Amino acid sequence: MSFSRRAALWLLIAAGAATAGERRRALIVVLDGVRRDTFEQTYAGGALPGFSRILGSALWYDRAESVLPSVTMAGQSSIFTGTPPARHGILGNQWFDRATGRAYDYVSAGTAPCLYAFTWFGSECRDGLLNRHLLAPTLYEAATAAGLSSAVVFHPVWRGATRAVLPGILDALTFLQGADVDFEAFDRRMAQHAISLVTSDGQPDLLTLYFAGADSIAHGHGIASQPPYLASVIDPLIDRMANALEAQDPDWRASTMIVVTADHGRTDAVANPEDRTLVRDLTAAIARAGYAGDQIRLAINGGMAYVYLKNGDSWAQLPPPEKAAAVVREIGADAVLANSVAYARLRQESDSPRAGDLVVFLKPGHYFGNTGLGSHHGNADALDLAVPLVIARPGGPAGHTALDAGITRIAATVAAFLGFAADGADPALEIPPP
Ligand SMILES: [Zn+2]
Repeated sequence: MSFSRRAALWLLIAAGAATAGERRRALIVVLDGVRRDTFEQTYAGGALPGFSRILGSALWYDRAESVLPSVTMAGQSSIFTGTPPARHGILGNQWFDRATGRAYDYVSAGTAPCLYAFTWFGSECRDGLLNRHLLAPTLYEAATAAGLSSAVVFHPVWRGATRAVLPGILDALTFLQGADVDFEAFDRRMAQHAISLVTSDGQPDLLTLYFAGADSIAHGHGIASQPPYLASVIDPLIDRMANALEAQDPDWRASTMIVVTADHGRTDAVANPEDRTLVRDLTAAIARAGYAGDQIRLAINGGMAYVYLKNGDSWAQLPPPEKAAAVVREIGADAVLANSVAYARLRQESDSPRAGDLVVFLKPGHYFGNTGLGSHHGNADALDLAVPLVIARPGGPAGHTALDAGITRIAATVAAFLGFAADGADPALEIPPP
């Protein structure tokens, strides 16, 4: 037994959390872009017997929220660091690095492979671009330091995990269709890898499964496409996963905390003609405050955007405060933008240093690039922030709770159950009194 493992055990005993020798494990299932009510109604309707099998009597956090911006890479990083974007530094799917003058779009076809360490996209892809950019420690780093094993399957955050299963070239061949990704194939390959891993190596102390397909199908076809996808694709994969875990240990659920959650919610699209020209109109308003096109960088994250302003010919230097304030005024005074922009504000002390000089928030139901088809997310409204957060804890409480809950509190909750501390993470979720 390593020193850190022994230390962790002592911690457990001191906390009265578990008896020595009792093994504890955790399984985290992340469903990309599934809103809380969508998951709950599909589950309650009996269409998810696989989830019902693993969750059994679980605690449902009825007020669980994502982070801002409510987009994938910000939310996923928050789950696995236990911190909001202002602390972990992944400000969304897009941000602009002033220091290098480089714009990042993690979900673009050119950059997404870099998240999964396809190194022919550049040496900075070697350890996964998100892992490289994260400014906060991950749950896996803390688990490894405590002597625990962890495995991550197809999730873009895996820094510190003892085992990361990433899509390989054979996987990519099954789900890459030109520049498009067949996310149903992604989910099936992910589950296959997870099942093989458990079958050959047993259940690790901490296991993360990442289902990306529900987000993709809903972007194209709206929220109504999610329940059938959950029921016909993801749920049978969960059931097969449960078979694999049960084959290893028929009592696996008695020692395992199971967490089901999502990185963000979503909103069905409504056609707002002014959304189509938002980038152009926003850029025009900024130009009226004295910035040329090449002095403006927008990082678009669904229902919000960061605006970066060049100081003369330098990105490294921040613009003078009065000039940034003039841009805020121009945006606020623009009659066309008033249809879709809720407000713009200057970067605050509480924002990440990586944030734009301005942050622009759209009104509920408004999104950059919204054509009125499918569904979107990234807005600050309740629908985009609403996520399922269901925790089955051996012998733990079941039912529903209205306690405050957010995805930044999952890491410390899992860490406490496994007997180690997630330093720097938001506090563990409260459990309602019996
Ligand atoms: Zn997402």
